[in-house]
Amino acid sequence: MIGDSSLDPEEPRPTSGEGGTMRLAGAALCLSLATLLAVHGCAPPPEKADRWAGPVALCFPEAGPEDAAAIGQVRKAAQTWMQNSGAIFYVLASCTAPPPGNAPPPVATIPIFFLTDLGAFAATDHLGNKLAAGGQIRLKAEYRFNDPICGDRGSVGQMGCLYGEAVHELGHALGFSHDHVSVNAPQCAGKVVSGEATDQKMTYYDSQSVMNYCNPRRWSGQLSQADICSVQVAYPRRGDRPRTAQECQQIAALSSQTGTARGK
Ligand SMILES: [Zn+2]
Repeated sequence: MIGDSSLDPEEPRPTSGEGGTMRLAGAALCLSLATLLAVHGCAPPPEKADRWAGPVALCFPEAGPEDAAAIGQVRKAAQTWMQNSGAIFYVLASCTAPPPGNAPPPVATIPIFFLTDLGAFAATDHLGNKLAAGGQIRLKAEYRFNDPICGDRGSVGQMGCLYGEAVHELGHALGFSHDHVSVNAPQCAGKVVSGEATDQKMTYYDSQSVMNYCNPRRWSGQLSQADICSVQVAYPRRGDRPRTAQECQQIAALSSQTGTARGK
């Protein structure tokens, strides 16, 4: 389970029991994957074994009319990943709705729930295609309350918080893990309070990633150049220049040095 708090990395707050457990479970998942697959750590670029083989449908089993705008933000977040890769999400009006038009059927339908508890944490149960085994995504309904922690202390607005969170959680749904568990990550407040252990095998680090608690601008939902490179490696789009994981790692390392190479 990959749990995410709404922590601003510059403004730590105590870890609750539930949230801490969720995040530790996420770290354990990374470590177990690295062990089982003998991969080079549990790097943010989706591992081959976690990638989807086709479109993924998203639906909202408990959403009401008051959640319509929030669903719009999830749709926008899905578009952010889709516009930069060959990944395909269908954001369905109902969990039994067919895919749009003559589109191919989804390989899985993943339910998304909006959490109305201010103390709750956003979470994605598993990375990538492991979600197909009954996993779900939970987003914090920032639009129903004013969370002073989220979004650079509120600068992105309540809907902006939800959008940034949705981009991050859909990143997990595509197979991305967290940058801040890298051995090259700083001991930022967001990492420290998350309780996630450092992955000693993971050298990949992108300071600008939406998957990085140490990136104070992650709430903007803006994909970094390395995020874009990585999603294109995992989900190539016909006609795009082929990318490699090595190229992405170089981009991540460079942007982490300069802090300037950001996605558009
Ligand atoms: Zn996360």
